[in-house]
Amino acid sequence: MSQYPNMLKPLELGHTTLKNRVIMGSMHTNLEETKDWNRVAEFYAERARGGVALMVTGGIAPNNEGGVFPGAAGVYTDADIANHKIVTDRVHEAGGKIAMQILHAGRYAYGPECVSASAVKSPISPFPPKELDEEGIEKQIADFATAAVNAKKAGYDGVEVMGSEGYFINQFLVTHVNKRTDRWGGSYENRMRLPIEIMKRVRAAVGDDFIIIYRLSMIDLIPNGSTFEEVVQLAQEVEKTGADIINTGIGWHEARIPTIATSVPRAGFAWVTEKLMGKVSIPLVTSNRINTPEVAEDVLSTGCADMVSMARPFLADPHFVNKAAEGRAPEIAPCIACNQACLDHTFQGKISSCLVNPRACFETEIVLEKAAMPKKVGIVGAGPAGMSTAIAAAERGHDVTVFDRAEEVGGQLNMAKQIPGKEEFWGFVDWFETMAGKHGVKLELGREASAADLGEFDEVIIATGVVPRDPHIPGQDMDHVVDYIDVLRGKAELGKRVAVVGAGGIGFDVSEYLVHEGESLTENLKDWKEEWGVGDPSETRGGLAAEGPQPDAPAREVVLLQRKLERHGKRLGKTTGWIHRAALKMKDVEMVGGVNYEKIDAEGLHVSFGETRENPTLIACDNVVLCAGQVSERSLADALEATGKPVHVIGGADVASELDAKRAIDQGTRLAAAL
Ligand code: NAP
Ligand code: SF4
Repeated sequence: MSQYPNMLKPLELGHTTLKNRVIMGSMHTNLEETKDWNRVAEFYAERARGGVALMVTGGIAPNNEGGVFPGAAGVYTDADIANHKIVTDRVHEAGGKIAMQILHAGRYAYGPECVSASAVKSPISPFPPKELDEEGIEKQIADFATAAVNAKKAGYDGVEVMGSEGYFINQFLVTHVNKRTDRWGGSYENRMRLPIEIMKRVRAAVGDDFIIIYRLSMIDLIPNGSTFEEVVQLAQEVEKTGADIINTGIGWHEARIPTIATSVPRAGFAWVTEKLMGKVSIPLVTSNRINTPEVAEDVLSTGCADMVSMARPFLADPHFVNKAAEGRAPEIAPCIACNQACLDHTFQGKISSCLVNPRACFETEIVLEKAAMPKKVGIVGAGPAGMSTAIAAAERGHDVTVFDRAEEVGGQLNMAKQIPGKEEFWGFVDWFETMAGKHGVKLELGREASAADLGEFDEVIIATGVVPRDPHIPGQDMDHVVDYIDVLRGKAELGKRVAVVGAGGIGFDVSEYLVHEGESLTENLKDWKEEWGVGDPSETRGGLAAEGPQPDAPAREVVLLQRKLERHGKRLGKTTGWIHRAALKMKDVEMVGGVNYEKIDAEGLHVSFGETRENPTLIACDNVVLCAGQVSERSLADALEATGKPVHVIGGADVASELDAKRAIDQGTRLAAAL
């Protein structure tokens, strides 16, 4: 008997059967825009081979005005249909099913041609939309139906009509955007007319033997969003149009509440889908922050939904379902919900990938074939760079040994996992250990490798990481000054007032660590909802708590400093920086920029401002924590190079200024593929 009977149970849809309860949710990867259809096909086929029941493509525009950006992928011509057929054929050969998402961005379309219910500009777009007239609305509906027909011609098993996340259809549903007074605005019946017309026309156009999913915004998380009564009414009308499945959408893109970031509790919105269970008779799918088979099984077995949708976890591991079914769940590469290589890339117009799995969307470029000539590979450093190289090299058949002076694998990830809201890093470090064991990597932990230890290896890889940068502040040797490593390793006792020097990723992390005490909110859904102001959509429109965010008092008074004059956190992740800033603001962290560090004494940190060192100011505090960035730890690399031994230097030991796990893992995996 499987450990995941509910997740692996087939689902009968009448005209077709899904082999289990797992959908790969839509993600815009920018792959379609490469027009390299072999690459697109391989991305989806790899996931089909991994056992997922049904995949939904990234958003495909029904027309030019609805594209997320000008030139966004659509299926308009016979040539487009033929290209998409390359993908669907490859997926079907691999035993999978795939539906095309029809995404009309409405006022979120990044271009001057954008259209919406009313001419109300979105706070996250510079382009005011044009208000559609009756004829314009009819055109949009017809374009949805045509897109669905073309999807069917291209061999897709179905379509998903994107009705959530604040896109076009969602914009008609709420008075937040829809100010119309004709038959498309005013009463809820009128505002609901657009999705219902679209769904009816799509079903009529494609016939009965084609999957139609409607993605419904069950909690908008914006002012004047839908009430839950309206959500139920819409779901029931959607069912009547002949939809096969209703998928859950959580929050508009402009919502100021995190919905998928790593600090959101796992399955943190399954309760919203659960509220709709029993109100319709077609299957309901839940989503957001479901990233292990255990969480999926729990959500399904407790009746929150009929199916689960996971998107990013299939970037991290295409074989999620098969590994779970085969009793190999610990081998599933975990999505840590960082957004660093997926959504952050998408929003920068780059191809998405995955921090944990750099092969995602690069399946045709990074190939881990069996090595023709197995070699002895010695790696120094068991952080993300060293471990990802070791695992990929060993998978290829090389004989790999990893040395680290620490007693555990994971390097700096072991510090990250101490930060409240970054608990996913625990599973990531465990996964390194599991995979090293599976592929026979020899771990020499607690052992400082010397040049002499490395003589026997055919290939030597130095992944020794970084050491903290010395900011040279007069007085920094005093006892009340510590660096972030001591803080995160629990070696420093800190007082109630702390000044943090350096506002990079680590300065932000350390500040979050310092203002919290007790259980992390990510581990406690009720408290997390209170902190961020998530209410019940049955009680307040859009599910925004009437009393707003209710953060606990900060555990300490923290001042976060930087020398630059720019906004704090400007260089953090595009899709997550705002969350870190908002979290610290809620804890009254004072952000001070443009400083010169003059000295530290018993009273605290003395700073001045500007080139002329004006306005001398004392930041009175009990402790100063140094988070001034890092420099490469290259001593072993330099010693080996001096002996003439060729070495590969990767990760932070190679480039500290850009040090992050994404770059380190990508570099390591590519190196392993080439050994
Ligand atoms: P960082 O991002 O390079 O930030 C270093 C900070 O130290 C900056 O605020 C910099 O600001 C300051 N600084 C630099 N030189 C200094 C000096 N000589 N004296 C005083 N201050 C100085 O480095 P990090 O915070 O250590 O993070 C390292 C990497 O870890 C990041 O690049 C990131 O990729 C990754 N990381 C990311 C996150 C995240 O995104 N949430 C979290 C943790 C780690 P000024 O020069 O303006 O003073
Ligand atoms: Fe998940 Fe991060 Fe990978 Fe995106 S980059 S899929 S969030 S682990």
